This record gives sequence, structure tokens and C-alpha cells, in this order.
Amino acid sequence: MKRRHFVGGIAAAAGLAACSKSAEDCAPGAAASTETFEWSAVTSWPPRYPGLGIAVYNLADRIAAATNGRLTIKVYAAGELVPAFEVFDAVSRGTVEMGHDASYYHKGKLDAAQFFTAIPFGLNNAEMDGWLYYGGGLELWRELYEPYNLIPFPCGNTGVQMGGWFNKEINSIDDLKGLKMRIPGLGGEVLRRAGGTPVTLPGSEIFTSLQTGAIDATEWVGPYNDLAFGLQKAAKYYYYPGWQEPGPTLECIINKDAWATLPPDLQATVELACQAINDDVAAEYTHGNVNALAELTADPDVELRQFPAEVLDYLQQISTEVIDELVASDPKSAKIYESFNAFREKSKLNQRITEGAFLETRET
Ligand code: CA
Repeated sequence: MKRRHFVGGIAAAAGLAACSKSAEDCAPGAAASTETFEWSAVTSWPPRYPGLGIAVYNLADRIAAATNGRLTIKVYAAGELVPAFEVFDAVSRGTVEMGHDASYYHKGKLDAAQFFTAIPFGLNNAEMDGWLYYGGGLELWRELYEPYNLIPFPCGNTGVQMGGWFNKEINSIDDLKGLKMRIPGLGGEVLRRAGGTPVTLPGSEIFTSLQTGAIDATEWVGPYNDLAFGLQKAAKYYYYPGWQEPGPTLECIINKDAWATLPPDLQATVELACQAINDDVAAEYTHGNVNALAELTADPDVELRQFPAEVLDYLQQISTEVIDELVASDPKSAKIYESFNAFREKSKLNQRITEGAFLETRET
């Protein structure tokens, strides 16, 4: 209900009020704008990379088709126009109208943004959607980005990720000490406190860093994307579960001034297309992971391993400390986490007796 209200708020501000009174006001030709818009979008991903990278090309294609070419969007992959981690700034200052990345890359600049991608032991895909679309999360996200002249839209989710690729075994808490690992966001901070050295690298640099021994381990996404990078050729042990990212949401960010120039029907189309892509990416991952995992588990050089329970318990304990400290030092994070955590706590029973219980039953 809240979301309807909020979307209505954006549309009403742009003058859609008449269209909501009766269907006739929205009939074809009723003051339809013929103005065309040519936008550019920058991303944090390699060009047309499966899942997260292809998402914004699919978004652009759907918007162009749905608007009969009135809004076209030229996509630039990471490094083609701006570096992978400068998407937020480029869209904020209006260099381009749109961006596609993950909000936890803004850690350091805007720590509270991390809750809208994923936090360790946080929300899974279905829970993120529930919280964002119906639980007040999206309103908080838009409020957070408002001073940056940006409007965020959920636009893709990878589902529960993998713990990552390791060139050494993780049998105990001590094995985390001295571990140099590519792991962004709050998960990286958790590893640091566990005695490791977290590194943030864009996707394109992961394989070489792992293969040359510059890092001992990396998390990336999951079987579908990890296979696409060939990470199984650079490390032996493939650990699960991805405690650090249980259901990361990707973001489409739009410059507010550019958004304001769009007529209401194009704004509505963009919003719908983002929600469609949010679902589409999740479907692509579900399908892709199934096939990629079968391929990886058939590879004799790959050892699939579950993190020991004591390691996961320890990481969860540190995660709570890290988040408590963040919340104590940053009022913006505190406000968002209050909503996020209230939803997570309430959601636990429902998830346990539905998805959790069902999957456990199906295994037996
Ligand atoms: Ca990841």
C-alpha cells in the first residue's frame, strides 16, 4: 500500500493526476507526448556479463520497445565511459541519466546504502522484495539518495550467493587469520575483524588476482557467474553458503533532473521495466546456477565444501558487532536498520516453516 502511495507521489508531482481519474483520460492520443529522449546508462559490470551485466541492456531494450522508441538508453559497461566504482557519482552529477550497480559499492561515501544491496546474515531475495516494495524499504532508500539527486529502483537480485573460492581450506576460525580475500561491503569488514585482509576489486580483476596469488580467496556471485569468470581454474575449494550476501539487490539509479523531464507514462514504464528486470535477473540466476553448479561439481578439480558451523557462528557474531557499531555511529544507518531488522526478525518464523521446512523435506 505504501508503495502505491509513493509511486503515485512521483507521478502526481509530474502531472499524472488526470490520468488516474478515469480510463478515458489515458486513452490513446489523449494528450500523449511524442517527445523522444536519448539517455545513457553506465554500469559497474563487464559488458553483457551474464545476469548482473546483461540486466541493464535488457532494461534498455524493454523500455525502448514499450515506449515505441520514445525513450532509448545507450549502455556503457564498466570502464567504457566511467570506471566501475564511479557509477553513483556520474549519475548524481548528471554526466549520464542512468546507472546500474550495487549500493554497497558506496560504502565509505554513504555507508547506510549497504542495507539496500545486502548485509551479512541479512535478507534473502524474497525478503528483500517484501521489505523494499511493501515494508517501507524503498521509501527509506529514496530518502537516503535524495540529497544526491538520485532515485533508486530495485533492478535485479542474484539470490543467495556462494561463500567463494579459496586456495586454502577453512576448517576453523584460525584459518580466517591472514586470509587475503576479495569481499566487498560489510562482509569485508567482518573478515577484517576475523583477522583477514579484505580487498575490493571490480569483477574484471578477480580472476587474475586469484590466479597470481595476489589474493587467497574471493567471493564473487555464485555458480552461474563464477563459471563465466573461470574461477574454478584459479582456486580449488568452493565454499557455501554465501553468508555475506544472502539476497543482494542490484540498483538502477536515475538522475532526478532527468527523471523530471520524462512525461508520466514514460516514468511509469521505466518503473515497471525496473521491476520486471528485478524478477528477470532472479529467474536468470535460478536457471543459470542450476546448470553451472552441475558443471562445476562434475569437475574433478573442484571441491564443494560447506563452511564449518563454528566458522559461520563466529562470522555471524562478528557481523552483529559490526552492524551494531555502524548503527551507533551513523543515524542514517540506524534509521534504515531499524526497519530492516524489524522485518528480518519477523520474517524468520515464516521463512523457517515455509521455504526452509519445504526444502528440508524435499531433500529427504
Ligand atoms: Ca558477491
